[in-house]
Amino acid sequence: MENKLNLISHPLIQHKLTFMRNAETSTDNFRRLLREISQMLAYEATRDLATEMITIRTPLTAMLSPVISGKKLCLVSILRAGNGMLDGILEILPAARVGHIGLYRDPQTLEAVEYYFKVPDDISERLVIVVDPMLATGHSAIAALNRLKAAGANLIKFVCLLAAPEGLAALQAAHADVEISVAALDECLNDQGYIIPGLGDAGDRMFGT
Ligand code: URA
Repeated sequence: MENKLNLISHPLIQHKLTFMRNAETSTDNFRRLLREISQMLAYEATRDLATEMITIRTPLTAMLSPVISGKKLCLVSILRAGNGMLDGILEILPAARVGHIGLYRDPQTLEAVEYYFKVPDDISERLVIVVDPMLATGHSAIAALNRLKAAGANLIKFVCLLAAPEGLAALQAAHADVEISVAALDECLNDQGYIIPGLGDAGDRMFGT
């Protein structure tokens, strides 16, 4: 099986991403831009959601009109940077349940170390959308998806802002069934595991740490 990859290079996303990359952009603008881009990424990532027709009454007449049907949603944020995407996406998918996975990168090995895991009990019945802005080495994403599958998740999409080719290849190799949506594919990783040209540490830029 080969992953479906959505490279979402809409001009509005590219424009906003330029300002996110700019080191001069303030924390509050960075957060706002991430929220706005996340909504557009989620809009594209949910393009194939099933709908069903229901009967409603407009002020003028009765009509059949579509509503989302099928599996209910669960958004899963990889802490802490994922929360910057979660906030925006919840505004357009307000009925979604939410899970959190706490992972940090061991600075020596760059491996993901889990410190928190909380997801809804019925995760196996939901379409799970995992969010994390930066797909760098892929270690956190792979660890998060392993953990979610072990908890029963069986239909998963991964949505991120920037990916390094190394991280994208690793994620695709480890989880070929997971559809990936990303706004831009950057050049490479540096030896500290940062995406180049990237935008720096997304968590630090979002929270001003
Ligand atoms: N995480 C970040 O926040 N930035 C990177 O460039 C890589 C990982």
